Amino acid sequence: MKFLITGGAGFIGSHLAEYLLGRGDEVVVLDDLSTGSWENVSHLEDHPGFQIVVGSILHEFLVDRWVERCHAVFHLAAAVGVELIVKNPWESLITNIKGSELVLNVAHRYRKKVLVTSSSEIYGKNSNAPLREGDDRILGSPLKSRWAYSTSKAVDEILSYLYWKEKRLPTVIVRLFNTVGPRQTGAYGMVIPRFVCQALRGEAITIYGDGNQTRCFLHVRDAVGALAGLMDHREAVGDVFNIGSQEEVTIDELARQVLQLTGSPSPVVRIPYDQAYGEEFEDMPRRVPDITKARDLIGFHPSYDLRGILTDVIRHYEEGRLPEAGSRRRLGP
Ligand code: UDP
Repeated sequence: MKFLITGGAGFIGSHLAEYLLGRGDEVVVLDDLSTGSWENVSHLEDHPGFQIVVGSILHEFLVDRWVERCHAVFHLAAAVGVELIVKNPWESLITNIKGSELVLNVAHRYRKKVLVTSSSEIYGKNSNAPLREGDDRILGSPLKSRWAYSTSKAVDEILSYLYWKEKRLPTVIVRLFNTVGPRQTGAYGMVIPRFVCQALRGEAITIYGDGNQTRCFLHVRDAVGALAGLMDHREAVGDVFNIGSQEEVTIDELARQVLQLTGSPSPVVRIPYDQAYGEEFEDMPRRVPDITKARDLIGFHPSYDLRGILTDVIRHYEEGRLPEAGSRRRLGP
């Protein structure tokens, strides 16, 4: 099979490309290298089944050309990271909604299956645990960036679903919960690369809020295996699946484990949310996925525990990839 991966030079997309090439598929990556980067995929450059096209999913001629030449599309291109979406809300919204509509429209033109990646942000402030796919979305004002972002992902989901329901385009929706691992950048707010880099540099570990909020972290290799499994499975079409880990940890405990595994002397500082994100900010107290649907259909089961994930991320940075202190990538496209 030949797959198009939009956003394929991003953190998750690059791991997905590696996974698909590893099992003998061909991959075309379409990426504007805004939050993705050439370094993420440079090791795949010489693979005969790999191709990268640098360009935006908002350019119809590019999307048209490459959707036509591939068998199916993994649509991952999107604005990522709470910090990025809070700082660049307009661009985030346009990329997500217009980009998805264009990709789906072109896929419909050529009758190509599309897997659309959504997010646990969909559930908003609903802190039921575990969250099932049919659970309510609980959101604040759409004028707050976080809820606007959540809404943009919901629009993507609705579009995908309607293309299936009304036009019979095969689509699959996957809601990813806190996917982490090597190559994820801390530049857009993600907590694990942030804490690990801070610990390795001996800088203060920045805990936002009181540290009692919890998350469940999934290794990106588990995530991409699930994306491929759901793309392959005929019965996933027209449906939505949570993909995540169920190992719940407080951000305080996460900081403790990072310090222990790195042996770092870093102090811990607590930063109020308004200082961290620069606006009246609401965080989710917890976010635990119910993964029964994916488990029953494709046997999804995370293979890495938190310790294994942290060890892998720490190794990644220790192998000479630690960004310089204070270095931040440009925000937005
Ligand atoms: N967080 C933190 N320090 C940081 C970055 C994030 O304490 O330097 C917190 C953040 O406020 C949230 C949790 O870690 O409660 C997970 O944040 P992330 O941005 O990784 O994911 P999301 O908020 O999308 O779940």
